[in-house]
Amino acid sequence: MSRLPVVAVVGAPNVGKSSVVNRVIGRRRAVVSEEPGTTRDRGYNHAEWAGREFTLVDTGGMEPAAKVGLQPLVTLQAQVAVEEADVILHLVDARVGPTEADAAIARQLRRGPGKVVLAVNKLDNPADDTERYQFYSLGEGEPHGISALQGLGFGDLLDEVVSLLSESEADEEDGLPRLAIVGRPNVGKSTLLNRLLGSERAVVSEEAGTTTDAVAGEVEVVLNGESERYLVLDTAGVGRGARKASGVRYYSSLRTSEAIRDSDVSLLLVDAVDGLVAGDLRIARQIEDAGASCAILINKRDLVPQERIREIEGQLLARMTDLKPPAIAVSGLTGDRVDEMLPLVARLHRAYHRRIPTHELAEFVNELVGRNAPPKGVKIRYATQTSTAPPRFTLFANRPEDVPDGYLRYVENSLRGRYDLWGVSVRIRVKSSR
Ligand code: GDP
Repeated sequence: MSRLPVVAVVGAPNVGKSSVVNRVIGRRRAVVSEEPGTTRDRGYNHAEWAGREFTLVDTGGMEPAAKVGLQPLVTLQAQVAVEEADVILHLVDARVGPTEADAAIARQLRRGPGKVVLAVNKLDNPADDTERYQFYSLGEGEPHGISALQGLGFGDLLDEVVSLLSESEADEEDGLPRLAIVGRPNVGKSTLLNRLLGSERAVVSEEAGTTTDAVAGEVEVVLNGESERYLVLDTAGVGRGARKASGVRYYSSLRTSEAIRDSDVSLLLVDAVDGLVAGDLRIARQIEDAGASCAILINKRDLVPQERIREIEGQLLARMTDLKPPAIAVSGLTGDRVDEMLPLVARLHRAYHRRIPTHELAEFVNELVGRNAPPKGVKIRYATQTSTAPPRFTLFANRPEDVPDGYLRYVENSLRGRYDLWGVSVRIRVKSSR
């Protein structure tokens, strides 16, 4: 059974929820009685953007008519939104700045699983950064500027909403995060895949809906007492449909690119005998471009002395400077240290999706600035995480152009160290705080 995805518009009274809803659905509804105590319709509307249909909920209908404190309102709206919405549009009013009500709603939404898009309404010029900037403090990522009155800024806003809807649909479709084991031919992918999956491979092929040849099996990981399951993509042609085509080199590299694009976590196998070669770096680049996360398995450790492993780790450090992937040396053949692979996968997956609370990030960046100040005259005023998977950050500085690259690397590496962000691409932008 398929239902339309639900987008709920949530916000303090008078921020313009109904105007926004009307803009999106493209018509003016009859004004409903404003008399106190009138039960208003909960406002379920059919909406569409870029060919995607969804139900748009106007929670304005849930506002209590009489003045009762802030809390019941916040709770009720957010409750409904959190319970049934796939995406929540948190609407705030540019003219009154982030209010206590805005912050309370943000806090409430943060506790739920829904994806939140922040829209700043009543902006005459939605492209103007300065008014939107203050709303970063709500910790809901990039604020989108709009004007419901003039119909401005809705394109970008709805693009974002629709893209989040697609994301959550994809999550639901397959449920499990995907793991790809990639590498050049003969580095040992099949051997490792077989060892990893053991007898579990058959399970997946039986499961309804996973008829695709692209999946080789399913594994369970327990990390810190929490269990997670992963779909393992078939990158080595061990699955049924793939066998006939395996051996064709072109096909195998195509399979690799597809798996990388589909995966949340990629394990890149390198051959301890060959060391790090150009082909490995090409695949690493693909992983990075796809925005996936990555760890390195130095395979065939049974064939080389320990110094060789150290040497390859040195090469990784020097050459994979964007992802800075963690690495372990294993042997698919003997099974040596293969049991460390899956905990590593879970660690990467968590890093990839890590969301650092705004206040914590602010404190941490303060600490970093205190320890190692930027050049004289440069002030870093604020830091925010603008997205996860992969993590993206924005620093606000009085003179963005004067923040040296080296300083950003310092912040980046400190973030990686503190929040275990190895193996994911971390990007930090600097924007003007003015
Ligand atoms: P794929 O092309 O990446 O799937 O590589 P295969 O799994 O087919 O392995 C290529 C060759 O390397 C086979 O002869 C394997 O037996 C061998 N091999 C794989 N892993 C190891 C390992 O850890 N140690 C040793 N000594 N040989 C391995």
